[in-house]
Amino acid sequence: MSTDDLTSLRRRFREAYGCEPAGVWAAPGRVNLIGEHTDYNDGFVLPLALTRRCRIAAAPAAGRSSRVLSLQQEGIVEFDAASVTPEDVRGWAAYVAGMFWALGQRGLEVPELDMVLDSDVPVGAGLSSSAAIECATGAAATDLGSLELSPTELALTGQRCENDFVGAATGNMDQLASMHGKSGHLVFIDTRSLAVENVPFDLPAAGLALLVIDTCAPHALVDGQYAARRSACEQAAQTLGVQALRDVAPERLDDALARITDPTVQRRVRHVVTEDARVLQVVQHLRAGGDPRDIGPALTQSHASLRDDFEVTVPHLDVAVEAALQAGAYGARMTGGGFGGSAIALVEADAVDQVSQGVRQAYAEHGFAAPQIFPVVPADGAKRLD
Ligand code: ADP
Ligand code: MG
Repeated sequence: MSTDDLTSLRRRFREAYGCEPAGVWAAPGRVNLIGEHTDYNDGFVLPLALTRRCRIAAAPAAGRSSRVLSLQQEGIVEFDAASVTPEDVRGWAAYVAGMFWALGQRGLEVPELDMVLDSDVPVGAGLSSSAAIECATGAAATDLGSLELSPTELALTGQRCENDFVGAATGNMDQLASMHGKSGHLVFIDTRSLAVENVPFDLPAAGLALLVIDTCAPHALVDGQYAARRSACEQAAQTLGVQALRDVAPERLDDALARITDPTVQRRVRHVVTEDARVLQVVQHLRAGGDPRDIGPALTQSHASLRDDFEVTVPHLDVAVEAALQAGAYGARMTGGGFGGSAIALVEADAVDQVSQGVRQAYAEHGFAAPQIFPVVPADGAKRLD
């Protein structure tokens, strides 16, 4: 069990290493409100950081090498932060050791640390428990090592860790959201320029709730499908003579589609171009202080596009979205890569039980195992807690 109680995290640190931690750092998981499969097309994404986060108690290492333990895993893992290579550390500790490696790759002199980590970001629900570890580790290492890195540089270092040390081909959204999160705000990211803007999204003030519906469905065929979508998008960009699909303006979409012969690739392009437009539309509305209820249709259109054009949903996701809408949600969509993971639903705060019940009932009727449903609010990004 993880806990937000820093006293107990400090106690676990003392039990493991026999001294007080120098401090505690935290970084959140994230959920993407809208902007799916746009990141590798140089497009726009709009995630929020969560109150669920990874906390790391750390101190300069007592010995020559670094040590880390997780309250959610067995055993202590030891590694040399200054010289660790991707072959040296596998499994969960790679997200920690890889961060030191990636900082070293930037030419920085990394400190050797003793660490205890504790996270309440669920694993594999599409809420980026991995980026939370990377960013919390990065925050601790940069503070204790007096390394000068901006939040965006630290996020990109986390991406490097995940891509080249852990070996997972992911974009930069997760780490940027974890670094740049802000309570009551979304994190609007231009994945090409890396410009980041916090856009107001104060759910409690608006009397709203955002539900995450973790389908708990087994992920099927994800790797091959992700690569196939990516390569279809790259191929289409080449055909259209643009650097990335982000460069296809929505008003030129029909012209672009006319130049693509494969109907499947046509649909992939239509998803990416319309999805970028939906993100910008949502951002414009919220930036201008518009009612968050009004973005519901954009969320639902995003889901339809991911289901029909990008073809990355599965019945568990479609049923969750349909049931949430039927039970009164303003909008709902799958979130994350698809093929499992989670859906989100924007609902009136006093309709949380009604919508949750509607989804649970639909799952039971379909013979699906019960989903995990919980509300989330936008929270702050990585920071020192103590
Ligand atoms: P996610 O969508 O949650 O980021 P990933 O597969 O990218 O899924 O990352 C999950 C991995 O991160 C886990 O398999 C584990 O190796 C590591 N991880 C997540 N949370 C913890 C934790 N509390 N303690 C140790 N390792 C963790
Ligand atoms: Mg991850």
